[in-house]
Amino acid sequence: MGRNVTAVVSPNALRHNLQQIKRIAPQSKIIAMVKANAYGHGLVKVAKTVQNADALGVASIEEALKIREAGVQTDIILMEGIFRPEELSLVQNYRLTLVAHHWQQIHALQNYAQPIPEKFRIWLKINTGMNRLGFPEREFSDAWTALNQDPKVHLIGFMTHFSQADEKNNELTQQQYEVFKRLVGDRAGEKSLANSAGILAWPQTHADWVRPGLMLYGASPFPHSTGRKFNLLPAMTLRSEIIAIRTLEPGDRVGYSGTWASERKSKIGIVAMGYGDGYPWHAQNGTPVLVNGQRAPLTGRVSMDMLAVDMTHLASEVKVGDPVILWGDDLPIEEVARHANTIPYELLCRFTERVSVHFQE
Ligand SMILES: *Cc1c(COP(=O)(O)O)cnc(C)c1O
Repeated sequence: MGRNVTAVVSPNALRHNLQQIKRIAPQSKIIAMVKANAYGHGLVKVAKTVQNADALGVASIEEALKIREAGVQTDIILMEGIFRPEELSLVQNYRLTLVAHHWQQIHALQNYAQPIPEKFRIWLKINTGMNRLGFPEREFSDAWTALNQDPKVHLIGFMTHFSQADEKNNELTQQQYEVFKRLVGDRAGEKSLANSAGILAWPQTHADWVRPGLMLYGASPFPHSTGRKFNLLPAMTLRSEIIAIRTLEPGDRVGYSGTWASERKSKIGIVAMGYGDGYPWHAQNGTPVLVNGQRAPLTGRVSMDMLAVDMTHLASEVKVGDPVILWGDDLPIEEVARHANTIPYELLCRFTERVSVHFQE
């Protein structure tokens, strides 16, 4: 009904990808990353689909509560811990696990005065070179001691995050790994380092727990490959349809600023999809789009509600209402991201509420 723009999500692809991650990192437990609305795929439905992972990773207590309230019992980890002390009573009530990356969080735990049915479960985050979150080398040992001495705390283990694991020849990842190993030393606890790129390119860093995000959704974290290369299946297909067809004469231009001009007599399809839906304005002329399953290049600027494709060369006749795929099965999101000078991560989690997410059952 009405304007028909849909992100179709396949639970089978999600389940397949989770299995594939288990095959790639067979010795490790899995924190399935479902933050940012499960990378745009729908937080609660994805969490339910992958609740047999060993834990779920989120960025905020709001995300965690949505999952718990939907009845999911899996361990939920707040990857950035709490943002303010008041969250700690919810952490208790909803049985959440925390990352501690900053002294204020440790002090909040120390000052927590309410009764605790269970100890706070804490991962200690170490900054090994990303320089975003985590205790630096000179503070790590004090942070560890403080957590260890707090009777309200059960220290689960140690985490760090790679900054350039998607660069397969960059030694930085190995260096971060060495710093992590040296700091943790023989302290008791679980260890976790690898995101998707770490899982795929740096098997020595799999350790006790891996933290796949992008690959769970079937995409590759590397700039010049696609998920297929790793036997992953795209979990999302972004669909729309042709809403107008026009014939252009040589020299006719398409769209704002006339950045594309027809060189011959051309057949142009107008698609109900624009930056108002989250499709990238930056997508260049030539970005691939699938019309009736055949590739048609983007022509001219993406507008708010529409974009145009060149269908001149298509074998079959196209009609208004025919299906269009912007990414998904048969059109890797990695390729679209490259043409738009962005990354698949951003494309997946930037589309707007105008797109209805349809979870296949
Ligand atoms: C988001 C996130 C991940 C997942 O990263 P991908 O590159 O999507 O696999 C892993 N670890 C942490 C701490 C994260 O915040």
